[in-house]
Amino acid sequence: MAEFSIIDRYFKTAASAQVDLGIGDDSAIVSPPVGQQLVICTDTLIAGRHFPLSTSAHAIGWKSVAVNLSDLAAMGATPHSILLALSLPQVDEVWLQDFSQGLFDCCAPYNVHLIGGDTTQSPHLTISVTALGWIPTGQGITRSGAQVGDYVVVSGQVGDAAFALQHLGHPLQQRLDYPSPRCELGQSLRGLASSMIDVSDGLAQDLGHILKASHVGATLWLDQLPIDPALQVLPHAKQWQYALAGGDDYELCFTISKDNYQRLCQLNPVTPFTIIGCIQADLSLKFEYQGEPQFLQLSGYQHFA
Ligand code: ADP
Ligand code: MG
Repeated sequence: MAEFSIIDRYFKTAASAQVDLGIGDDSAIVSPPVGQQLVICTDTLIAGRHFPLSTSAHAIGWKSVAVNLSDLAAMGATPHSILLALSLPQVDEVWLQDFSQGLFDCCAPYNVHLIGGDTTQSPHLTISVTALGWIPTGQGITRSGAQVGDYVVVSGQVGDAAFALQHLGHPLQQRLDYPSPRCELGQSLRGLASSMIDVSDGLAQDLGHILKASHVGATLWLDQLPIDPALQVLPHAKQWQYALAGGDDYELCFTISKDNYQRLCQLNPVTPFTIIGCIQADLSLKFEYQGEPQFLQLSGYQHFA
């Protein structure tokens, strides 16, 4: 099956009023809504590196979109569309059918359109997605606004995906294969959160990016970490390793003043969230368990490390 038949059969979608020109020309054309800025990001998944080789094609399709929508969510943006650069070792039509279904299944709830891409042959399965979204001008939530006295808050649960990676077949594998981008929560944090990041490389490392960019430190309360009951039976050191240094959570970690936290609670977002610590002037990241300092050896995921 040739490149153009693959695009036509698996990726070409019906025209949409939200896209001026979609798949089929040299570039796509979209009109940003008046008063909004374009927010754009890209993320690549490589077979065996970013997902186990046993991962289903449907989950790979889903995850390749979800990790990008998570980056848009972390800015407070409303997702609009994606581009897909796909490098395939061979044309496997059953795989392509399941992959494209997973991709569109992740797009659908957020009304995200596939507007273009590139299809190539390569020895390694590699999927690069670029995502576009909008934010009212000036309202993007960056990593650099955390203030002393803010709460540190995280959505959902942390550590599930890292645990699942070591226990393939466990029910938590759903959290590894099908991360939920927290788009709705991200958007409700506009004007409320002082800084935000999505947790992809481990909570401690990703929170560290906020602390560095904001020139502040934090204390995390280990007894407050939202950890799945399946992990709570493990020794503390193991739980904290998964929750703080495990990758692939795709939860949002944000800082917020106490007043704005009350406003957030009144908005009653669907996604649960938990206060896990507070921002302080001392530049370090500290840990406490039941009020006692804890000294942890942790590391998040880094390429080329
Ligand atoms: P060009 O050679 O001008 O770069 P291509 O032949 O690569 O164009 O692509 C033709 C059209 O199909 C373009 O609109 C492109 O965005 C789209 N396209 C190619 N591959 C994909 C893909 N994997 N998913 C979605 N759209 C794709
Ligand atoms: Mg061209």
